[in-house]
Amino acid sequence: MRDATKAFLKAAYREFYFRRADSIEFPDQIESREFGYIPFGGSMVRHLTFRRPGEAAAELLRQTPSSVYCSNARYESPAVPMDEKGWKGAELIFDIDATDIPTQCKRGHDLWFCGDCHSTGKLPRPAKCPKCEGPTEEYHGTCEVCMSASKEHTLRVVDLLTDDFGVASETIRLYFSGNRGFHIHVFDPRFDLLDPQGRAEIADYVRGGSLPAPQTIASTLRRAPHVSPESSLGWMKRITSYVESKGNGYPGTVQKLVSEAISSRRALIDTSVTTDIHRVFRLAGTLHGDTGMCKMRLSSIESFDPTQDAVVLSSEPVALEIRYSPQLTLKGMKYGPYKGTVESLPAYAAVPILTKGFGEVKP
Ligand SMILES: [Zn+2]
Ligand SMILES: [Zn+2]
Repeated sequence: MRDATKAFLKAAYREFYFRRADSIEFPDQIESREFGYIPFGGSMVRHLTFRRPGEAAAELLRQTPSSVYCSNARYESPAVPMDEKGWKGAELIFDIDATDIPTQCKRGHDLWFCGDCHSTGKLPRPAKCPKCEGPTEEYHGTCEVCMSASKEHTLRVVDLLTDDFGVASETIRLYFSGNRGFHIHVFDPRFDLLDPQGRAEIADYVRGGSLPAPQTIASTLRRAPHVSPESSLGWMKRITSYVESKGNGYPGTVQKLVSEAISSRRALIDTSVTTDIHRVFRLAGTLHGDTGMCKMRLSSIESFDPTQDAVVLSSEPVALEIRYSPQLTLKGMKYGPYKGTVESLPAYAAVPILTKGFGEVKP
């Protein structure tokens, strides 16, 4: 990354933080949280601590990093090495990413590209570029289908938490991650002291991973016709209502119905995120380091459009030398695909091209 590119990215992020510092959502008990950040072109700095939101905001403006993180855990001493921190509890968090949800459209927008000759092709990625033997990289795009699948899986988590775990919906906060998915933060004190094993059990339940095989469930249902949605709970209630709703006219087997019931209700969360009690998460109200989009709290996930609502950087134009870039859709406009060209783009469209190394600011 050229110095001019790094300077442009920092200036673009700083302009946003000056304008919208009030939208940063600092956690409660801030003095017990661990903070971290990644500078542009640098590596992660962790184990930072702040006493007050104003202090953290001032440091954020001073550094203007590419990404800012904060722990969901609270510690006695957040600044010391991990095994001496003194863990005091952590909110329960779920991560849903379009990458983990199988959608047909991925074949259209996920691709490999060559760092040398800028050839591209569909996945799987060849180890070397077939044209010039140069190094290849994967690019995961996103689209409306992927985003709506992520929303659907996010709502399934909410459904499982409120129906099966008795979580009050006002203790659940939904956030757009700033890239291809959503974070769910649960502020229910019952989960606060859960260890990684306990969190793994919840994650497994949400993914439908702890259920018996569909064949076993189907034979239970066949042997026990008295099992009804009214007499069952949790996953069995979901499965029996699904089976019942399809009625007797359904052409497939009960086993197939059970499989469908599970796959249409389970949420494909990233288990490793939920079980890690020492993790730092992107701070809400800050910018994603790869996209320039904002991690933001959502009041209505259904109507949220990341390509409009999370695009918060300025529209000030900047000239870029672009080696290669797949097509991006932002604020209703399509940008690219570009190959070996100079373009003047608004800052919000320039940033995702520059952070991925697809181009540089024109000197
Ligand atoms: Zn090549
Ligand atoms: Zn897609």
